Amino acid sequence: MASEFELIRRFFDRPARRGARTLLGVGDDAALLRVEPGMALAVSTDMLLAGRHFPEGTAPGALGHKALAVNLSDLAAMGATPRWATLAIALPVADEGWLSAFSAGLFALAQRFDVDLVGGDTTRGPLAISVTVLGEVPAEHALTRGGARPGDDIWVSGVLGQAAAGLAERQGQLRLAPQVAAPLRARLEMPEPRIVLGERLRGIASAAIDVSDGFAADLGHVLERSGVGALVHYAQLPGVRTGDAALDMRCVLAGGDDYELIFTAGQEARAAITALAGALDISLSRVGAIQAAPMRLVLLDAQGGQIAPPAGYDHFADLD
Ligand code: ADP
Ligand code: MG
Repeated sequence: MASEFELIRRFFDRPARRGARTLLGVGDDAALLRVEPGMALAVSTDMLLAGRHFPEGTAPGALGHKALAVNLSDLAAMGATPRWATLAIALPVADEGWLSAFSAGLFALAQRFDVDLVGGDTTRGPLAISVTVLGEVPAEHALTRGGARPGDDIWVSGVLGQAAAGLAERQGQLRLAPQVAAPLRARLEMPEPRIVLGERLRGIASAAIDVSDGFAADLGHVLERSGVGALVHYAQLPGVRTGDAALDMRCVLAGGDDYELIFTAGQEARAAITALAGALDISLSRVGAIQAAPMRLVLLDAQGGQIAPPAGYDHFADLD
């Protein structure tokens, strides 16, 4: 069996694509990175555990993609341009077929966004994957959760609830024709980080977050950090349609793993945002408005009745 160092060299050491930016990558005690003058460094880490974040036996190529994609999504939500990543991985066995597919999935996405893998750690243990990404953003244009103001519009990219519907289908809670199920499963396994959208929202959006825990919970984080409330019309939310309206609503409001962006912007930005949707060929839906505190999230159905916002996924909820 290959040694730890042999594994790292074979599967995780690829030449940096940008010599000027990555002074030193994998192979030394630390990487050396050059941040462009005037840029702030945006840093984010996410951990994926077998059995909790993905089923044991998940295809390794999809896992390599997703481990990086969920982190890149956090940079997208900051308006940052991804530059570098590190990978900490615990493996029960050094299965070369598995490692080869995992690293191919990870590097395919890294290459698309010009991200250099510049270091990490490799140990033996129950399968766990932690990626840290580093990106650059002009500090004054970073999209935080704290900038939403009363009167701002609330926008959502893409379609919500597809990943959750894909999970429900995979778990047998929902029967769908294969051609309907396939794109939902693809959303679950191969999410697309909205990097270009995040970059183009610099100077336009007042706040942003990516949807990892569900629309209601993630918009709730923006409201809390911004000290505001929101009025949202459920019928305006771009949601998955499986034929089961109650399931659709759960998936749209509380389904995680979509990695779309929720952002807020002043009403004067409507034309710019519509133009951006056309330029990027991505749907951007205006779903509600930010209100003054102390109002929280108010969700209205088509008749104007109030829908109780469901809770998002909380790893510690069962420990209360
Ligand atoms: P150290 O003991 O000094 O922390 P390691 O032996 O853990 O160094 O790692 C050797 C080199 O390989 C370091 O540059 C480290 O960043 C890199 N590395 C280790 N594991 C990975 C991995 N899974 N992906 C990318 N780089 C890795
Ligand atoms: Mg180490």
